[in-house]
Parts: sequence; structure tokens; C-alpha cells
Amino acid sequence: MRIVTTKAELRTALHEARADGRTVGLVPTMGYLHEGHLSLVQAARRDNDVVVVSVFVNPTQFGPGEDYDSYPRDLARDAALVEGAGADVVFAPSPEEMYPAPQVAYVVVDGPMTQGLCGRSRPGHFRGVATVVTKLFNLVRPDRAYFGQKDAQQLAVVRRMVADLDLGVEVVGCPIVREPDGLAMSSRNTYLTADQRRDALVLHRSLEWARQQVADGERDAHALTDGIRRVLAEVPSARVDYVEVVDADTLQPLEVLAGRVLVALAVQVGKPRLIDNLVLEVS
Ligand code: AMP
Repeated sequence: MRIVTTKAELRTALHEARADGRTVGLVPTMGYLHEGHLSLVQAARRDNDVVVVSVFVNPTQFGPGEDYDSYPRDLARDAALVEGAGADVVFAPSPEEMYPAPQVAYVVVDGPMTQGLCGRSRPGHFRGVATVVTKLFNLVRPDRAYFGQKDAQQLAVVRRMVADLDLGVEVVGCPIVREPDGLAMSSRNTYLTADQRRDALVLHRSLEWARQQVADGERDAHALTDGIRRVLAEVPSARVDYVEVVDADTLQPLEVLAGRVLVALAVQVGKPRLIDNLVLEVS
């Protein structure tokens, strides 16, 4: 496996593979990797001849006062993990390498897809995501790119961006990987104290409660979000940012559950703001 830090080295590393017509899979990450990320690398390994993992804490997707500076970073550990999962190339550029001049050109996915859910409390976040993903697509020119369902809005936004801009990359969504007790794996879980780690289980518990309600026939979105909020309120340290029920593809808010439904929440527990979600097929 090769670790490259410049765009030029990346181009050289992929030149031969491209000339030979080998397929390339890309897994974009911000590093501090866990089993969730590695499941993406394994999926990319199954589908492609060459697997590239990018490790880049992207400054343009963090807002003022967010955790850009304190975001955990450990490239040596990440490289060892992805090598074990079958990666061929790690691309770990510096911010100056990715953004050599002040960025004035951005990719913006407009409208309800980015206005609700995380877009409401993180203005500019999806502009940063769409821009860096486009840059990575242009640098790597992958056949396929792998994203986790954990960041459901990001996955939907990237899919739509690829479709609307004819980017020609197959976007592969991968299921949420959880700890044995149900907590969705996240690099930000490292911020949690032992007590907060226990409190954070309420996210998954509230989603499982919602799953049961829908299985029992609940179709009213407001009744469902109210109920989820009641479950979350059982844990005083959990501060709700949002609980939303939306169409899983368009992210349009729903009144009545029908089709592919995304139940998504963001909750602050101690320092980190945690997100989790559930996709339900509702007939
Ligand atoms: P991040 O490093 O947080 O930007 O995440 C990089 C990619 O890994 C994104 O596509 C995430 O959705 C995905 N990912 C993060 N956590 C998980 C998880 N627990 N299960 C599956 N995918 C995940």
C-alpha cells in the first residue's frame, strides 16, 4: 500500500491502473477510522481492482465554533487499519495541498435536500462536503465511491449531485456499523466519557422504539417524532438538535409515512453532537 500526500503523487500512483483499464474504488473519510469506515473499504475491495482511501479533515465543511481543530487525527493508525482492510493507496493531503488558494468556486446542492436535518444547524456544511467530494472525484476519477448510511443526508446529497452534474461515478451506500450495544460507530464517540457513552445509547433506543411503532401500524410522522423526543427526554444529558421524518431520497419532510422513509436525529451528548438514523420501507 502507498501513502501519498500530494495531488501529483496521487496522479502517478493511479496512472498505471488507469492505463491498464483497471477499476478504481474511492472511500472518502476524515480519518480516525473505525469498523464503519473499514466496512466501506472492504466493500470497495470486493468491487474494484484498485482501492483508494482519502483521509482528510476538510476545513470547508466545518462551521465556526465546530470541532475542526480538535477533530481526532492519527494517520499512522489509519494507514495500518486500511492496509489490513485491503486498500492500495491512502491519499492524505494537507489543507494547503487541497486548497492552495482561497477557495472561490464551490459546488452547491440547493433546496430542501440541504436546508433540513443537519443543514439547518450546520449552514455551509453540505457546500463544503459537495465541494471536497467533487475535488476528490476529479483527482481520483473513481468508477465507484463508497459512503455510509450513517451520514444519510450526505449520501442523499452526493447521489443527487452525481446525478444532476453527470459526474459518472457509481455511488455505493453501505449500512451503518454499530457497537454490540447499538451505538453507531463514529470518530466523535472518542469524545464521550463513560457516563456519556452510556447516555448516548438513547439515540439507538429511540430509533428502535420508532421501528416498533411503525411495525405496529403508526403512520403519522408527528406522532412518531413526538414519541422519539419523549424517549430521548428520558436522558437529561441528551440535548436534541433535530428529530425528522423525511423521504429517504428527496429528504422532503413527510406528514404521513409512505415509501422509503428516513427517520433521522441529531443529539448532543456532552461535547459531541451525534447523529443516527433508520430507513424503513413503509407500504
Ligand atoms: P467520516 O470520516 O466521518 O467523514 O466518514 C467517512 C465515511 O464513513 C462516510 O461515508 C460515513 O458515512 C462513513 N461512516 C462513518 N461512520 C460509519 C458507520 N458507523 N457505519 C457505516 N459507515 C460509516
